[in-house]
Amino acid sequence: MSPSRVLVLNSGSSSVKYQLLDMRDSSRLAAGLVERIGEETSRLRHTPLARGGETREWNAPVADHEAALKAVSQELAKDGLGLDSPELAAIGHRVVHGGQTFTEPTVVDEAVLAEIERLIPVAPLHNPANLTGIRTAQALRPDLPQVAVFDTAFHTTMPESAARYAIDVRTADEHRIRRYGFHGTSHAYVSRATAKLLGKAPEEVNVIVLHLGNGASASAVRGGKCVDTSMGLTPLEGLVMGTRSGDADPAVIFHLARVGKMSIDEIDTLLNKKSGLVGLCGDNDMREIRRRIDEGDARAQLAFDIYIHRLKKYIGAYCAVLGTVDAIAFTAGVGENAAPVREAAVAGLEILGLAVDGERNAVRSDEPRLISPEDARVKVAVVPTDEELEIATQTYALVGR
Ligand code: AMP
Repeated sequence: MSPSRVLVLNSGSSSVKYQLLDMRDSSRLAAGLVERIGEETSRLRHTPLARGGETREWNAPVADHEAALKAVSQELAKDGLGLDSPELAAIGHRVVHGGQTFTEPTVVDEAVLAEIERLIPVAPLHNPANLTGIRTAQALRPDLPQVAVFDTAFHTTMPESAARYAIDVRTADEHRIRRYGFHGTSHAYVSRATAKLLGKAPEEVNVIVLHLGNGASASAVRGGKCVDTSMGLTPLEGLVMGTRSGDADPAVIFHLARVGKMSIDEIDTLLNKKSGLVGLCGDNDMREIRRRIDEGDARAQLAFDIYIHRLKKYIGAYCAVLGTVDAIAFTAGVGENAAPVREAAVAGLEILGLAVDGERNAVRSDEPRLISPEDARVKVAVVPTDEELEIATQTYALVGR
């Protein structure tokens, strides 16, 4: 039998998340996470899903990504799923920034690694960790195809009118400044799954995808192809997020530097880590914000209102970009779980053909579902995202025999 397993790796600067899938039926065999790599308090959590096994967890120092991946391999081996297994077909890596070069998932070779490295200046937080993950996996299984699946790839179909900022062209090109967009794997998966929910082919529908997690982004997808998205050169632009500001006048930065005497690094930290919901009300978990609102907390209410106001503006903008819209789809942690966010985001948008049915919206489910009234002109959907499955599917399509 030909190998049918794909290991999906998402390597961050101090963490590695992984899932092992069997692509014969897209089932999940194992999933886990190594956190706080390089610290004394590293932690590994591993769940052998295939056998309904119990989650195993341990705390012990994990020095680097190589040690982390070895630890993952050992845990997998305990269930007969080790990295040395002949049933492993490939390793699929989430890579955050593929620039304009990578429009599709790509089998990794030296030239691909060099290009991912060349893109580090536009993704200084993410690409170095992704590269480390790939190199470490290569060292452990040099014979195995490693596939890079890029967060930006789905957005490379955007027209220049959406992808370019109105900045002096030569300066922008010299520094590769343009809208790249992120969460592409999720936007691709959810826009396709939404078409399926409507009983149509992706080419037949226009969809607005609202990926609302701790990071958040919106995209306008025409006939299966992205035509605009809210994140930009980096994941900072667009919607209000857990800790990121999203859109703000760029002059805020000059002002903080000149008048506030803050350094560029301090401003970077302020806008990426201390803003968004956490900056507005001290909490970035929507559950906690809703709980505080229920208790009459005015700061939490204002944070929620700012979050919704921004979301509404993007829904309206992408209706205008697309002209006709078949569906808007809510996904990720907030989008899938927070009924009040979905209700508030769509409230008052009847003029755009949008409405939410209260009872349908209140239903909890892990399945893709419609929450708009039966006769709605534009469908409103909740479509759980599955980035790991999408990475595994794209990886296997490249290497599966
Ligand atoms: P993600 O980045 O997609 O994992 O989303 C994480 C975020 O989802 C958390 O920070 C929460 O704000 C939000 N979230 C998760 N579960 C719920 C829930 N039941 N209700 C509201 N928000 C939730």
